Amino acid sequence: MSAKRDYYEVLGVAKEASGDELKSAFRKLAMKYHPDKNPGDKEAEEKFKEAAEAYEVLSDDNKRQRYDRFGHEGVGGAGGGGFNFEHFDLSDALRMFMEEGFGFGDIFGGGRGRTRSRAQRGRDLQVSLRLSLEEIAEGVNKKIKLNKLVSCETCSGKGQRAGSEAQTCQTCQGHGEVRQISQSIFGRMVNVTTCPDCRGTGSTVKDPCPECRGEGRLRDEELVEVKIPAGVMTGNYLTLQGKGDIGPRGGPSGDLIVAIEEKDHPIFVRHGNDVVYDLYISYPDAALGTEVEIPTLTLEEGGKSLPEKDLDRYTKVKITVPAGTQPGKVFRLRGKGIPEINGYNQGDQMVQVKLWVPTRLNAQEKELLKELAASENIIAPKKDKGFFQKFKEVFSI
Ligand SMILES: [Zn+2]
Ligand SMILES: [Zn+2]
Repeated sequence: MSAKRDYYEVLGVAKEASGDELKSAFRKLAMKYHPDKNPGDKEAEEKFKEAAEAYEVLSDDNKRQRYDRFGHEGVGGAGGGGFNFEHFDLSDALRMFMEEGFGFGDIFGGGRGRTRSRAQRGRDLQVSLRLSLEEIAEGVNKKIKLNKLVSCETCSGKGQRAGSEAQTCQTCQGHGEVRQISQSIFGRMVNVTTCPDCRGTGSTVKDPCPECRGEGRLRDEELVEVKIPAGVMTGNYLTLQGKGDIGPRGGPSGDLIVAIEEKDHPIFVRHGNDVVYDLYISYPDAALGTEVEIPTLTLEEGGKSLPEKDLDRYTKVKITVPAGTQPGKVFRLRGKGIPEINGYNQGDQMVQVKLWVPTRLNAQEKELLKELAASENIIAPKKDKGFFQKFKEVFSI
């Protein structure tokens, strides 16, 4: 005889557990390991049987007393009150499960999955939409041209030739569903599925519409307008309900899923809701200080849908670069970034100072630079690594 686990341990309850505690413990385990939820899983089936057996004993005062005194010996075999657990099999377990008033709804949660729309739903469509940073910063309305299945106008989506009558589907008698009743471990089991012959519509087409061949739908182009909120980013999806393919013969439409993709920007790089702009300045400007105009994400005079390389098109902000500005220094322009999606905050624009090093010099420039290079305050100091590390850190704050 194989070693049996303690029944209290099986149900995970204390020795003095009440009837209600036992019941709820069993219910939890039974729902988890029910064979209908774990088809083909032998281990789950064993667990289910084990729980049912434990509950069978502990829920019966008489058996529970014997079990408490004598253990498994007290409730098995000849002295076990006519119930030999060597033969406690799956059907016993399932019967007990049903007898406790636990049913289908318990296993699958409120009968979910049994109610289905009669008519078959159309497919979801997915498109990707490439947006410029300007469009993302402002939010934008886009028109998307879709090639999709739409209702056939000739037959109004019914699939029948004009004047012909729909026929009640013989397979499902017009219900759109087929019920397969089977004698199973549950007893009588009803399995409901969409009728394969009429695809859930309940009727068959005897004289099909010549335009759509009885499908009730045709492929066509449709312009769909999508309102994109400000602040979206690559990887975001928008779902437009009912904008996908229409279902066959009047079935409901699927959804349109719009995947957002952000185009690279010619002058800005996005970091979350901030945008980074590289400001190249000359060595003399960095050393002496200067004033510069910085382009921001906002395009002048409503040209927002055009990512422009032309710097003149952007609204500018003047900033002062103080004398002695180091490369890597970041100026923050508050609120000049991208708005938070569905939020109230707005990102910033980061202006990162880069040093412009000329690559072509004429003879005169070379002479001047050589002269300068030897002068006292121009020579680079010998600092440790930490000094240079700081330049990088300025940016990563
Ligand atoms: Zn048609
Ligand atoms: Zn049918």
